[in-house]
Amino acid sequence: MDRYTTEFAFELRTCRWAERAWPPDESASDDHAVVVARQLGTKRRRWDTIVLECDPEALRERAKFGSERLDSDLLHVVRNAPAEWTYYRDCLPHPGYPWRYVREAIHRADDRGILETRKNGNRIEIRRKWPYPDDWVRRIVAIENKPDLDASAARALGSQLEYDVAVGLADEVWVATRRTGDLVERALFEDLPVEAGILALEPETLAAEVAWFPRSLAVDDPGTRILERPDGGRRDGSAARFEYVDPDAKRATRLEIAERAYERGWRSFADTMRPDCRHFELRSRDGLQLEPYCAAKGRSQTAAECAGGCADFEPEPPVWRTRDWPIEGGPGKRCKRLLEDRRRRHRPGLQQ
Ligand code: SF4
Repeated sequence: MDRYTTEFAFELRTCRWAERAWPPDESASDDHAVVVARQLGTKRRRWDTIVLECDPEALRERAKFGSERLDSDLLHVVRNAPAEWTYYRDCLPHPGYPWRYVREAIHRADDRGILETRKNGNRIEIRRKWPYPDDWVRRIVAIENKPDLDASAARALGSQLEYDVAVGLADEVWVATRRTGDLVERALFEDLPVEAGILALEPETLAAEVAWFPRSLAVDDPGTRILERPDGGRRDGSAARFEYVDPDAKRATRLEIAERAYERGWRSFADTMRPDCRHFELRSRDGLQLEPYCAAKGRSQTAAECAGGCADFEPEPPVWRTRDWPIEGGPGKRCKRLLEDRRRRHRPGLQQ
């Protein structure tokens, strides 16, 4: 029986495949590192899977700033901090918002040990610890997972992907669908923008083939955000509403997305599930990937099922967390730690 019937289970397999096998173009250079995350994007658009193609050396440099993301305020400070002690207002460009927020960011950066600060009279002076490697992310790839890509799924995805193509925030957009043995039906291509790639993935074995290669999107050009589109079918001639997206704003958003992807990865699924439930397990069927498993349901559960409202939820017995369990915090904590260790392994240069 196919074990990856839900979109959630399929999505985790896509993430695992991407971590092992990206890029699917075999002629591509292998001088890159890959960071994979899931369920991230902007407030208007969330992608299922994100693949960051990174410069391996710069990724190690990025690790000096720790495993947590740098938000836009912290990025403003660490990217502009000078090598010599300087009054912060003399070295940081005006942020476009009150300086007091910059001071807060300076203190946060200091607390995290990623910036040096000192007082000179009333003035706060700063000095960088390391240069922030702006170029650690080379490309951002967005993948939508649709294991059962039929005509109506393709139509629904089509408008989301058109939005992505118009904005050009990701370098490439893809649809990953289940490989059935047959080629992906050509008819489905009609409902998807020609710029989007189509990947046929066999979730059991993680064998994949490209049914359609994507086109690279113009991430350095101005983008167009589709705010509203005619919905009266193909004959509806009313105008869509658009908004211009400035290339600088796109660059800043891309870096923020990359920072969040770096922090979160794709194994953070346990953060939104209930590893503190006595039925929660992590199982590895192929010895490579830890997947959530519910002993009460006798199968892999989805993130939506494994929530506070689950009728089968039972808290871990307190004794698991104390005398009789050899690892501090009990099995729920241990599951999270295991996943965190694996995430860390894919972030070269991070301190233990
Ligand atoms: S019983 Fe419910 S809450 Fe507990 S592991 Fe299973 S799905 Fe999650």
